[in-house]
Amino acid sequence: MNYFLFLNHPKGEEIYKISLEKEKLIRRYFDSINTLECEILIKGKKYDAVIDYQIFGKLCNFDCFNCVDDCCADSPSLLQENTKKFLKNNFEEFNKITKNCDIGEELGYSKEELKNELEKEDERNIISEIEEETEMCFYAYRNEDRKTLCSIHSMCLNKTMSQEEIWQYKPLVCSLWPMEIFIEEGSSKIYITLPDDFTNSFTIENYYEIPCINIEISESAIFRKKNPNGFDEKKYVPFIEAYKTTISSIFGEKIYELIKHKLGL
Ligand code: SF4
Ligand code: SF4
Repeated sequence: MNYFLFLNHPKGEEIYKISLEKEKLIRRYFDSINTLECEILIKGKKYDAVIDYQIFGKLCNFDCFNCVDDCCADSPSLLQENTKKFLKNNFEEFNKITKNCDIGEELGYSKEELKNELEKEDERNIISEIEEETEMCFYAYRNEDRKTLCSIHSMCLNKTMSQEEIWQYKPLVCSLWPMEIFIEEGSSKIYITLPDDFTNSFTIENYYEIPCINIEISESAIFRKKNPNGFDEKKYVPFIEAYKTTISSIFGEKIYELIKHKLGL
């Protein structure tokens, strides 16, 4: 079994391969819960999905503009060809937002060297060095309020693209985060869930540290000291509603409706 959303991770197998111990836990978990089984089309490819639908009723509040957590700490995916082309065609804007080209030059690399590496991505020496120096994903940046944002997303918004269009450019793992998908090796069978206090021993993300999917964290004094605003308790809604557009655009509206129906919402 592999972590489906991390199959394109720059570090490869080291990240996407699931240990046998975790695989056992995943199988045991999915055998013990009620699931929704259906066919899902993701980026034009059909998968047989087993969905942990009850977890889509979990309360969430993706209050990113009021969050100072270190999201987007490193690149979770190599880029698709259309995204590389998009960055190449908007390289000046990309540099203006992220300062990556300027940082590259400070580190001794020319703009052309960085552009070449970005285009091929067979080696990620400059990109990795910039990520290490800045302690964030190569495509991330901080706005004037010190919030970490995604330059790919921001550039799409600057071009007034719709959410559906944005999903064509952002890495799939970033669009679906924090959803977790496991895939059987050499098969089209996938298992879909979310990190939570029962499953986080086998999901990549740690539920206990993420305020947007853990309402209790957002109420803690430690969290409040770092994040004085936002994360209003009343604004937590079921994940299926918070991710309505994402789920409808990426998995199709039928899947959104099916999960919602199973949840009785
Ligand atoms: S931790 Fe959650 S709320 Fe904070 S920036 Fe990341 S996705 Fe947004
Ligand atoms: S959302 Fe953007 S900035 Fe964040 S990890 Fe993904 S590509 Fe990087």
